[in-house]
Amino acid sequence: MLPHIRIAVAETDSVKNLAVLGSTGSIGTQTLDLIRLYPNRLRVRALTAGRNVALLARQAKEFGPELVVIADESLAAELRAEMAGVNCRIAAGPEGLLEAASLDRVDTVVTALMGYAGLEPTLAAIARGRRIALANKETLVVAGGLIAEAVRRDGAEVIPVDSEHSAIFQCLVGEPAESVERLILTASGGPFRDLPAADFPNITPQRALRHPNWDMGAKITIDSATMMNKGLEVIEARWMFDIPAENISVVVHPESIIHSMVVFADGSTKAQLGVPDMKVPIQYAITYPERWAAPHERLDWTAISALNFQQPDLERFPCLRLAFEVLALGGTAPAVLNAANEVAVARFLSEDLSFTGISALIEQAVARLAGPGDTLDALRAADEATRRFAEEHVRVATH
Ligand code: NDP
Repeated sequence: MLPHIRIAVAETDSVKNLAVLGSTGSIGTQTLDLIRLYPNRLRVRALTAGRNVALLARQAKEFGPELVVIADESLAAELRAEMAGVNCRIAAGPEGLLEAASLDRVDTVVTALMGYAGLEPTLAAIARGRRIALANKETLVVAGGLIAEAVRRDGAEVIPVDSEHSAIFQCLVGEPAESVERLILTASGGPFRDLPAADFPNITPQRALRHPNWDMGAKITIDSATMMNKGLEVIEARWMFDIPAENISVVVHPESIIHSMVVFADGSTKAQLGVPDMKVPIQYAITYPERWAAPHERLDWTAISALNFQQPDLERFPCLRLAFEVLALGGTAPAVLNAANEVAVARFLSEDLSFTGISALIEQAVARLAGPGDTLDALRAADEATRRFAEEHVRVATH
C-alpha cells in the first residue's frame, strides 16, 4: 500500500501546519472551511492559486500564511499590489509552487491543484518526507510508479482525499495487505447515467456541468460526466493501494452514499458510507489516524429508501474503458491519456469539441503517442507532445 501508514502517536493538542496548494478551488476552499472550524489546531503556512488573485489575497489576509504563490507569473505584480502592507512572502510560477510544497515547518501538504500541474509540487513535498493529503489524482495517473517509489524512498505519507479512495483507505485500516481481494469503486454515473447513446453528441457544457450529487471544479465535473473521473480513479487506486487493475471493479451507485468498498479474502466486504461531503475525507486525510469531532451532516437512515447498483456502460462511457487500457499498456500511456483528457475537457468547455469528441480525441492520442518509459523526463515529454497533438487535432477538426 502506497501511503505507508505510520500509526502516529496521537498528538491531540499539537497544531498541524498546512500548505494548501490550489486554495482557491473547490477542494482548497473546503480545506480552508475546515481550518476555520479548528482555528487552534490547524494553521496555514502557504497558499497557492492558479490565476485567482483576488480570492487568494483575501484568503492570505484572513489566514496569515508566510508564503503566497500565484502560479501564473504574469499576475505576480497584481498579487503584490493586492498584498501591499501585508507581512507575507510572495512568489510566482512553477518555482513558487515547489517552494510552497517544500516549505519548512509544514506537516501536511494538501494538493488541491487541478491537473498535471500538481505532479512536480507533489514530488517536492514527498522529497521533504511530508504527509500529502492528495486530491490531485492526475499526479498518480501520470506518474504513479514514480510517486510510489519516491514515497518509499523518502518516508513520506500519501493519504487520499478523493472520497472513494478515502473510503477504501478507511476500510483498510487494521487489515493485512494480503487479505485484500478486490477494491470496488462506486460511481454516481454522473448526469448522463440514463441518457440514450443517440443523445450524447448533443450534450452541451452547461448540461454536463450539472452534477447530480457533488459540487466540484469544472474539470472534474466534466470528467464525471464522461466517467473519465472513474477511470482516473481506477489508475489512482492501482498506485495508491499497490493493487493490480484486474482486482479493481467499478459499480454505478447513483445515490453516492457508499463511497467505496473492499472485498477481503474471507468473503467479507467492508464499505464506508456517508452524506456526499468532501469535507469529511479532506479532514480525515489531515487528522488521520485521529478522528476529530465535526458538525458535518450525518446520514438519516430513515430517509434512505434504497441503495441501487448497476454495471457501468463502457459503450456510452468509453473513457472508463480507455483508463483500464492505458493501465495495461503502461509506460507513458496513462500520461498521454491524462494530457489528452485535460486538453479535450478544456476544448469541450470552450465549445470547440463535442462531448463524444472527448473520448475520440483521447483514443487517437493514446494510439499515436503512448510508448515505453516512466522517468520524469519521459512523462514530461509525453505530456507536452500529447498537448501539442490534441490542440492541433481540435484546430483541424474545427476548421
Ligand atoms: P478547481 O478547478 O475548483 O480548483 C483548482 C485549483 O488549482 C484552484 O486553486 C486553481 O487556481 C488551481 N490551479 C488550476 N490550474 C493551475 C495550474 N496550472 N497551476 C497551479 N494551480 C492551478 O478544482 P477542484 O478543487 O475541483 O479539484 C482539484 C483536484 O482535486 C483535482 O485533481 C480533482 O480531480 C481533485 N478532486 C476534486 C474533488 C472535488 O470535489 N472538487 C473530489 C475529488 C478529487 P485558480 O482558482 O486561480 O484557477
